[in-house]
Amino acid sequence: MRTTVLVIGGGATGVGVARDLALRGVDVTLVERGPLAAGTTGRSHGVLHSGARYAEADPDDAAACLAENRILREVAPACVRETGGYFLQLDGDDPDYFERKRRACADLGMGATVLDGDELRDRVPAASPAVSRALAVPDAVISPARLVVANAVDAREAGATIHTGAPVESISVDDGRVRSVEVGGDLDATVEAAAVVNATGPWAERCARLAGVSVPMRPTRGVMVAVENPGVDAVLNRCRPPADGDIVVPRPDEVVLGTTSVAVDDPDDFERSAAEVERTVSECAAMCPAVADAPTVRTYWGVRPLYAPDDPDDARAISRGFALLDHAADGAEGLYTVVGGKLTTYRRMAEATADRVCDRLGVSATCRTADRPLPGHDDPDRLDDLVGEFGVDAPADGVGEGTPR
Ligand SMILES: Cc1cc2nc3c(=O)[nH]c(=O)nc-3n(C[C@H](O)[C@H](O)[C@H](O)COP(=O)(O)OP(=O)(O)OC[C@H]3O[C@@H](n4cnc5c(N)ncnc54)[C@H](O)[C@@H]3O)c2cc1C
Repeated sequence: MRTTVLVIGGGATGVGVARDLALRGVDVTLVERGPLAAGTTGRSHGVLHSGARYAEADPDDAAACLAENRILREVAPACVRETGGYFLQLDGDDPDYFERKRRACADLGMGATVLDGDELRDRVPAASPAVSRALAVPDAVISPARLVVANAVDAREAGATIHTGAPVESISVDDGRVRSVEVGGDLDATVEAAAVVNATGPWAERCARLAGVSVPMRPTRGVMVAVENPGVDAVLNRCRPPADGDIVVPRPDEVVLGTTSVAVDDPDDFERSAAEVERTVSECAAMCPAVADAPTVRTYWGVRPLYAPDDPDDARAISRGFALLDHAADGAEGLYTVVGGKLTTYRRMAEATADRVCDRLGVSATCRTADRPLPGHDDPDRLDDLVGEFGVDAPADGVGEGTPR
């Protein structure tokens, strides 16, 4: 079969790329080996970052998060819960770090405000007596499942074709150009495309290798523990340099505690360590003591798609920005990899990718996704029906095969 652009991967990035291209009038086909969102997208905390988390360490990435946070609240309100968020300084935490974060957020124009411990506990009664100060920031909670189906539906309505259960098994390159892609599973076809986008998240290195191309990555796993909600309705972040167990994310009936960061060799097969689960719960209990005894609803793991060309010693030092790689210089013209980034920045990653692909194709249509509402933007029930119809796998939302019953 033929398509103009083949997108590999049905996480937020892949469906975002397919939607962006389809809205520009490009003929696009997306293939996903499992159900939609079955990779990292459905296994994240689901925080719509304000950028505060990265503000002092990576202001450019933080600015991108803030811009996308504002856009997604506008175009996809049914995917977003406006919870707000706080960075908590506990007794003994470095006050200079709190000040650096506060200044960095102010520099970004975020409108972050400082509360003392009592003011914070008035707003979040379950917060620890050890909280001495808090920085209020516009973090929110996003539903990966709803977001992915909304993108997939808009892509499909604009003419894209989406195949799930369709793993890419080989990519044939000849004379420095990608010629065709073998897709197995339910599709079982040879696909010829003018451009191929590798949007396979932590599997991007493995997928690129099918075309003989190297994409240096350092995927790291992180655990998330959903427990019954002891009365938290805002995102709580520990105000210290990123460490294990420094985030608590509220969902309607539960809070998701996270997370850890441990390198994995294989995103499909990695150790799930009980010690990481325990550490995550005990560290989060420092911010919110009641989570220590709250019944566990489920535990799930995700793998960060970290792009690491410089291979630093500490994986936490790897940028959470994204990379868009054009593999023409690697002898695979027509193949692009988009990797790294965050759920929060998926739309921007998709826009950059679609811009590059359109340059190659000679398509002059521009991106429309920053101000076009997503389908179901005002209708959460419709989105939940679509999540069911697509069979999305997103334990972050408590839906799909990955969600223990
Ligand atoms: C523990 C953890 C917590 C996180 N929390 C947040 C958060 O709160 N907020 C935030 O903004 N970001 C968060 N992130 C980051 C965010 O989840 C990811 O950056 C983002 O979801 C990646 O999306 P993606 O589409 O690029 O990759 P993925 O969602 O992994 O999608 C790639 C897809 O490619 C498919 N695939 C792989 N190989 C093939 C193949 N050969 N053929 C066909 N399909 C294939 C996979 O099945 C998968 O569905 C978190 C990440 C982790 C690990």
